[in-house]
Amino acid sequence: MGTHILALDQGTTSSRAIVFDRQGQPIAQAQQEFEQIFPHPGHVEHDPEQIWQSQRQVAEDALRQAGVSPEQVAAIGVTNQRETTILWDRQTGRPVANAIVWQSRITADICERLRADGCEPVFREKTGLVLDPYFSGTKITYLLDSIDGLRSRAEKGEILFGTVDTFLIWRLSGGRLHVTDPSNASRTLLYNIHTRQWDDELLSLLEVPRAMLPEVRSSSEVYGQTDSDLFGAAIPIAGNAGDQQAAAFGQTCFEPGMAKNTYGTGCFLLLNTGRQPVASQQGLLTTIGWQLGEETTYCLEGSVFVAGAVIQWLRDGLGIIERAEQSEELAATVTDAGGVYFVPAFVGLGAPYWDAAARGTIVGLTRGTSRAHLVRAALESMAFQTRDVLEAMQQDAGLKLSALRVDGGASANSLLMQFQADILGTPVQRPVVQETTALGAAYLAGLAVGFWKDQNELQAYWTLDREFRPDMATEQRERLYAGWKEAVQRSLRWEKTGKPATG
Ligand code: ADP
Repeated sequence: MGTHILALDQGTTSSRAIVFDRQGQPIAQAQQEFEQIFPHPGHVEHDPEQIWQSQRQVAEDALRQAGVSPEQVAAIGVTNQRETTILWDRQTGRPVANAIVWQSRITADICERLRADGCEPVFREKTGLVLDPYFSGTKITYLLDSIDGLRSRAEKGEILFGTVDTFLIWRLSGGRLHVTDPSNASRTLLYNIHTRQWDDELLSLLEVPRAMLPEVRSSSEVYGQTDSDLFGAAIPIAGNAGDQQAAAFGQTCFEPGMAKNTYGTGCFLLLNTGRQPVASQQGLLTTIGWQLGEETTYCLEGSVFVAGAVIQWLRDGLGIIERAEQSEELAATVTDAGGVYFVPAFVGLGAPYWDAAARGTIVGLTRGTSRAHLVRAALESMAFQTRDVLEAMQQDAGLKLSALRVDGGASANSLLMQFQADILGTPVQRPVVQETTALGAAYLAGLAVGFWKDQNELQAYWTLDREFRPDMATEQRERLYAGWKEAVQRSLRWEKTGKPATG
């Protein structure tokens, strides 16, 4: 039995590998960035070979740094940027094109056409998603349409599809495994989250041949072994989940009503809704969190487009702070935002407003407004937007949030975390180990090989760095939140109606 677990965390801008010990502590990590390819506006690609090479390299580096031999690795867990789509040749293993990254809008036309044909409800009902270029399905359609002869080769089983997890596991296993897990499959627009099968109706709407799809295995089981030439010993590949779901697992959000929020450039929220999928009335996504054995855990997912990015804007756009961390000191010099609200709708607003025409708005300025008030209002906007999404989730699910577990760069800001607890009226818990995504993948792999006994054991390893308890009177909380809602109203529809006509 090995002594460590190796987690591979293949992200949008970098590949990372982390070695975890028996207590779920990271003992070594390596990271490598790779190229972002922008062939034209709105389109983003990655070179799958670069993804693979960088991922392989960091895995070796992390093991070397940890002083852990491949024989000592009990299992490998994989987590990945989701939805990014790769097609490759089954025979040669070579990609037929660059990966189309989740951010790419290149399939907007395909989505538009399907919507015009009235297909949106069937996708929404069966997959829990919305018809958007973000998800893998239309990216496959696009590649099959744009490369000569590819569709007929795919029909014959010569061309394989995979999200990044699938491609990595294929390469790790020396081309023996073509598998994915439900958390990744549920982001493709092809997978029925109720029956937990690839869905013939969806396949036919998107004209995707079934022969190219990977087998969907659970998120935690031994899929197979790494090719022994790769690291010098065959290692079981035993865990797989998309990055956000892996983070929720790493935060041990195992019970319905538990949620995690990652405060990065944007925010990513996931609420565990238990064994049944919950259809959202407010445009949130229904997704599979993970599958253990035959047991599937469903989540509601929502995101905030601009969160930490608002602090970047204060730094790089306005130049009123020099470093992101400075926002905390500065905000702490005032007791509140002085009535200022900052709605960072730079790219419109998502759930629950769904207004692409909303634009950034600052209201409540007076002669007494200082730089500190503005910074504080910017920080508070992350907390208000998080409450917006969590309220929508709780309504959809008929669940009461028990606690919010946090991670990501901006969760280091304690003033923000205290305000988050205050504005939610719910405790906010920040763990010691912030590498929750990689940790989740490690946990899934470790459970499969008996490195860890069960989820209870994992829960015991989740260690609190700090808990922020609500410390604001209900009346004040609701008054502040009502002010936010009013400020949001002022930001809506600006691109359409507020902006003076030009020309
Ligand atoms: P991503 O993975 O999206 O790049 P990270 O998790 O690395 O994001 O977090 C970086 C984001 O968090 C940046 O947008 C930055 O402005 C913000 N940020 C980092 N530290 C702080 C802080 N102490 N207070 C507020 N925001 C912060």
